[in-house]
Amino acid sequence: MRVTVDLARCTGIANCVVQAPRVFELGDDDDHVRVLVAEVPEADQAAVQSAVRMCPQGALTVE
Ligand code: SF4
Repeated sequence: MRVTVDLARCTGIANCVVQAPRVFELGDDDDHVRVLVAEVPEADQAAVQSAVRMCPQGALTVE
């Protein structure tokens, strides 16, 4: 699984960081999230799916 962030939509609310802190991190400006892994490990995939559902901006996509 891969996850990408649409930075044009992301507003740094950080629900995703709370859901999956090993996968997402707020950037230095705290306005946009960064994805820390190229491939989401199996152990974090449920948390990432949850993060996708909880992102209020619809900024996360998994494939
Ligand atoms: S929950 Fe959505 S809007 Fe908030 S930081 Fe994560 S990707 Fe950005």
